[in-house]
Amino acid sequence: MTDVDVFRSPDPTRRRFMRSAAVLRRGAVPAVAATVAVLLSAAPAAAVAPSTPVFGAAIDGYAASDPQSTCDPVAKPGALGFRELVLRQYPATGDSGIVRSCADGGVSEHKEGRAWDWTINAASATDHARADELLAWLLATDSHGNQHANARRLGVMYIIFDRRIWGSYQAGDGWRTYTGSNPHTDHVHFSFSRAGALKQTTWWTAADQPAAWPRLANGASGANVQILQHLLNAAGQSLTADGSFGPATETAVRSFQSANGAVSDGIVGMVTWSKLLRQVQQGDQGSAVRAAQTALNKSGAGLTVDGSFGPATRAAVTSFQSAHDRTPNGAVDPTLWQLLIAGVG
Ligand SMILES: [Zn+2]
Repeated sequence: MTDVDVFRSPDPTRRRFMRSAAVLRRGAVPAVAATVAVLLSAAPAAAVAPSTPVFGAAIDGYAASDPQSTCDPVAKPGALGFRELVLRQYPATGDSGIVRSCADGGVSEHKEGRAWDWTINAASATDHARADELLAWLLATDSHGNQHANARRLGVMYIIFDRRIWGSYQAGDGWRTYTGSNPHTDHVHFSFSRAGALKQTTWWTAADQPAAWPRLANGASGANVQILQHLLNAAGQSLTADGSFGPATETAVRSFQSANGAVSDGIVGMVTWSKLLRQVQQGDQGSAVRAAQTALNKSGAGLTVDGSFGPATRAAVTSFQSAHDRTPNGAVDPTLWQLLIAGVG
């Protein structure tokens, strides 16, 4: 009964994409610009599931079946937050939209802004593997023995992908055959409980979450610019990491953007940050390590920025991770980069 999400348009992804592009042309919503750029990107995936904060044993129950009953097509914070979490981790994938018009037929949580469609081509082995990885991460048992832990913490109500559906209200049945008219082979559909949509579930309430990426452009200065310059150097540029975003940095940004399938506007936002990040850990050397050391020093780590990831850098990372309820594994992964650069939201 809740397994609806019926599309009434022959090609709803394109239709919603075009709506986003129209908004972009008006320049009304910067976040949409990032979304469209992600959609156009052709770079390889990070191919690593999101990192999971350290949680206690207490966990949310399974979201009950609670289908759309009103119309309020405004993207809810939990759907926005989940979209950012996934696109940060898989920057080469895209966004097929959260909200849908009340005028569209059928019952759908999209009309309450508590569903999200993740653009994934089931016919592509690379894309399918990305989806399989994220879905396995959502449905894995945690260290306390809680089944489907991340899905419960996020308030996931049901997921549809490639002719299969998983419903939290019927979790014991696992993945079931989905027989709706749309096979969901060009996207993964996620519906959220009302609590999950409002960020009232433990994923959002029990640990620090990263803030939105800072936007950097010509004229900016400070530690984040220095981090950016080191990351650009790690990608083959040769800037002086002086923390001052001038013409040379702008040229380097534009060059990096065009080489990586992003809009070459010289402005560093979510998409460009995501493409610049690379995971670093003990034993690594070079400019990406300098970026991590500079980022850790923002939080008072007092490291020498020498580009060598040794025990002192590792200790600073695990200390930062513990302070932010993250698994202290010593690795600077995309989520940790965001916490270090953007801070806590
Ligand atoms: Zn959907």
